[in-house]
Amino acid sequence: MEPMVRFQDVHKSFGAVEVLKGITLDVPRGDVVVLVGRSGSGKSTALRCINGLETVNGGELHVCGEKLHDGKTDLRKLRQEVGIVFQSYNLFPHLTVEQNVTLAPRKVMKVGAKEAKELAAHVLAQVGLSEKAQSYPEQLSGGQQQRVAIARSLAMKPKLMLFDEVTSALDPELTGEVLRVIERLAKDGMTMVLVTHEMGFARGVADQIVFMHHGKVWERGGAEMLRAPQTAELQQFVATDL
Ligand code: ADP
Ligand code: MG
Repeated sequence: MEPMVRFQDVHKSFGAVEVLKGITLDVPRGDVVVLVGRSGSGKSTALRCINGLETVNGGELHVCGEKLHDGKTDLRKLRQEVGIVFQSYNLFPHLTVEQNVTLAPRKVMKVGAKEAKELAAHVLAQVGLSEKAQSYPEQLSGGQQQRVAIARSLAMKPKLMLFDEVTSALDPELTGEVLRVIERLAKDGMTMVLVTHEMGFARGVADQIVFMHHGKVWERGGAEMLRAPQTAELQQFVATDL
């Protein structure tokens, strides 16, 4: 079967600076691929290319069966199919949890009021926040707000989810509840690409771990890769980062 995402020698520059130097990587349907690596190695840029937040300068990138390229991609459709969740959750403070979650489906997918309510109930159950539908963001913890942000993404019924260091801004005691939501999505078969510094979590959830270094896929493998690095760079990364 065709993979959900296929990078073929993808290059990306910002001005004169090349930050992705030929990425080749497949994300099979239903798999969880975890990107790890030092700050500045290109992880966020790679994620942002997948949902069209960045355009690529060279090579080919296929997402959900479509080739992405400058100007010709239907970004609206792409962003419906590919959910992305960032470190900052940016909920609307004046809207309830339910309203935050249903805003995009109502606006973009023209979902009716009753259906939107059912959709909210479904996705809030997925993130364990059924009882918070009528709360406002400020009444929730950071972990709960991040789970709402995940629910908001799920409400668009994405085929693929991207997570970029979604627990980095949270207090340590709140990261677990967010990681468990992601684990459950993985178990339910969601295809995802995620960037995390939580190495224990990465080992547990990943079908494939990709170590990025200087804009390249430096090393890749299963969860065991982090225990037995083949390159000096990964060895150094796990020694200093775990
Ligand atoms: P990571 O997520 O692994 O920390 P990034 O993908 O954010 O790495 O960044 C990779 C490199 O690209 C860094 O050197 C960063 O400064 C640079 N970069 C990222 N976004 C931009 C941008 N919009 N303009 C210029 N340089 C950028
Ligand atoms: Mg980043």
